[in-house]
Amino acid sequence: MTEQRVDIAIVGGGMVGAALAVALAQRDFSVAVVEARVPPQAWDDGYDLRVSAITRASQRLLDNLGVWAAIVADRATPYRHMHVWDRPGIGEIHFDAADLAEPDLGHIVENRVIVRALWQAFDSAGVDVRAPEGLRRLHADADGAVLQLDDQSEIRAGLVVAADGARSQVRDLVGIATRHEPYDQHAVVATVHAELGNRATAWQRFMRDGPLALLPLQRDHFSIVWSTHPDDAAHLVELPVDDFNARLTDASEARLGALTLQGRRAAFPLRLQHAERYVQPGVALVGDAAHVIHPLAGQGVNLGFLDAGALVDALCDGRDAGRAPGALRVLRRYERARRGHNTATQLAMDGFKRLFSNDRVALSLLRNVGLGTAGRIAPLRRLFERVALGYGVELPSLSRGAHRADA
Ligand SMILES: Cc1cc2nc3c(=O)[nH]c(=O)nc-3n(C[C@H](O)[C@H](O)[C@H](O)COP(=O)(O)OP(=O)(O)OC[C@H]3O[C@@H](n4cnc5c(N)ncnc54)[C@H](O)[C@@H]3O)c2cc1C
Repeated sequence: MTEQRVDIAIVGGGMVGAALAVALAQRDFSVAVVEARVPPQAWDDGYDLRVSAITRASQRLLDNLGVWAAIVADRATPYRHMHVWDRPGIGEIHFDAADLAEPDLGHIVENRVIVRALWQAFDSAGVDVRAPEGLRRLHADADGAVLQLDDQSEIRAGLVVAADGARSQVRDLVGIATRHEPYDQHAVVATVHAELGNRATAWQRFMRDGPLALLPLQRDHFSIVWSTHPDDAAHLVELPVDDFNARLTDASEARLGALTLQGRRAAFPLRLQHAERYVQPGVALVGDAAHVIHPLAGQGVNLGFLDAGALVDALCDGRDAGRAPGALRVLRRYERARRGHNTATQLAMDGFKRLFSNDRVALSLLRNVGLGTAGRIAPLRRLFERVALGYGVELPSLSRGAHRADA
C-alpha cells in the first residue's frame, strides 16, 4: 500500500476546496486534494447553467491567489446596477455602483470558469491532485487524519478538510450532524437571451412561490435562477419552449423585453443546512459541507471563500505559534471567525424567503412598505450594497488588499 504524508488533505476540489488548496500551498503547506470528478478543462462557446455572483471580497481573494486575471480573460460579466422588486410591483430598490464610487457591484462567473482557473494554478502552487478518486475510510484525531482511498493508497495528513459539498462524505464519516430543513422550493436554472440587452444590471423579483433572479452575462444573455414550488419547477423544465418563454417574460414583467431560452433547463432542490460544528480534532468543514443557504442573494460560494480565507489565517497563525494544524485550538479560531457570519446570512436569507412567500395581506403591505422605504433611506441602501459587495464582516487577510503569497 502506498502512503503519502501531507500537512493538509482536502476532500473536494470544487470552487472552495480548490481555492483553499492553492492558498495553503502558496503558503508552503504541503497539500493533497482528493476529488471524485476531474472537472472539464474545455467546452464550447455556450454558457454553463451553474453561475455565481462573485462579491468584491471573493474577487480580492481570487486575485490574491493569482487567478482573477485568468477568470476575467476567460469570461466574467461585471454588473453595475441591481433592481429588486416585489410581486405586486409596488416596492422597489435600485442599487447603483456609482453611489459607492465602485466600478461595479460584482461579477457573474460560471462555476466551471472559476474551477478551471484554480486547477490550472495547482501545478505552480505545488498542490498534489488525486482525481478521479474516492474516499473509502477516514480516521481523524488531534494527531491528524488517515484517509484510505479507493485505489487502496493512504494519505496521512495533519488535518483533513471537508470541501466536498452539501452531501459531504467526510462530515458523515467523522460523525458531524447537520441541522437541515428542505425548502418547499426548487430552483430552475437556464440561460436566456433578453430583447432589451444586458445593461450591466442584475434583476430580482420576489413572487409568492419564490424569487426570480436574472444575472447578466455577455452578448445580452442572462442566467436565471427561478425558485418556485417543486411541482411548478418540474413543470417549467418540461414546458414547450415558447410557453416557457412566455411565462418567464411575464414573470419578469417584461422589464428586459422578451426573454428567450438558450439551451437546456435544470431544476435543483433547495435546502437550508448547517453543520452542528465546523471543527473537531484533525477535521475542518468549509463551504457547502458546513452550510447551505437559499441562493436568493447569491451568497453561497462567497461565504465558502470567506471560510477558506479564515481557515488559511488560522492555520498560518497556528504554525507561527508552533501548533499542529489539527489542534482544536487552531481550528476553533477558524470556527469563531466564520460561524456567526454564516448563521446571520443564512437567517437573513431564510427570513427574506419566508417574508416574500407569505400571502397574508398584512405581510404583503409590510413588504411593500419595506422595499419602498429601503429604496428611499440612504443608509439602509448602503447596508444592502455593502452586503452585495461582500463587506460588512471582518474579512480574512486574503480578501483584503493586495496580499499575494507568491508576489
Ligand atoms: C441554483 C443555485 C444557484 C446558486 N447561485 C449562487 C450564486 O449566485 N452565488 C453564490 O455565491 N452561490 C450560489 N449558489 C451556491 C453555490 O453554488 C455553492 O455554495 C458552491 O458551489 C459551494 O462550493 P463548494 O466548493 O463548497 O461545494 P461544491 O461546489 O458542491 O463542490 C464540492 C466538490 O467536492 C466533490 N466531491 C463531493 N463528494 C466527494 C467525495 N466523497 N470525494 C471526493 N470529492 C467529492 C465534488 O465533485 C465537487 O467538485 C447557488 C446554488 C444553487 C443550487
